[in-house]
Amino acid sequence: MTPDIRLAESFARERHATQTRKGAAAEPYATHLEEVAAMVAACGGDVVSVAAAWLHDTVEDCPPTSFEELEEVFGAEVSAVVRELTDDKSLEKDERKRLQVVNAAAKSPRAALVKIADKTSNLMALAASPPAEWDKARKLDYVKWAEEVVEALPQGHEAARRRFRDAADRARASITGE
Ligand code: ZN
Repeated sequence: MTPDIRLAESFARERHATQTRKGAAAEPYATHLEEVAAMVAACGGDVVSVAAAWLHDTVEDCPPTSFEELEEVFGAEVSAVVRELTDDKSLEKDERKRLQVVNAAAKSPRAALVKIADKTSNLMALAASPPAEWDKARKLDYVKWAEEVVEALPQGHEAARRRFRDAADRARASITGE
């Protein structure tokens, strides 16, 4: 099945409609999805990767969205990529973060690209509008963790990695320049 990217976009916008980003500016969550999908497309992602970019947070953050539903609507390939990008929310946050680093090396090329774009978007947001309650150390920890995840991914996606490194540098500069 060739996934329909426009449908993935409208599906994701609808599911995340009531959510905002963690930053002080409380942007609509869709801003994050726009950034991730645009970067995946700009960095050579195929149709499955771009659809998965729109949908990557739906199962984790928008119950009762399920992998079965994604498979039915968008096909098995898209559902499989989203599954690779979905944390087990029954685990503690620190454990989920640790597992992202541990499991990174096993990611498929599509999941790796969406993951790099996801982390890039989150670092751009951290620089532009950090969560109000995060102190400097917590922000720097987040940058370091994002770098560990991206470095642990399989090789490839050099254009995306350059964008990620740029976002990490800017995030660090904005945090330490406060
Ligand atoms: Zn995300």
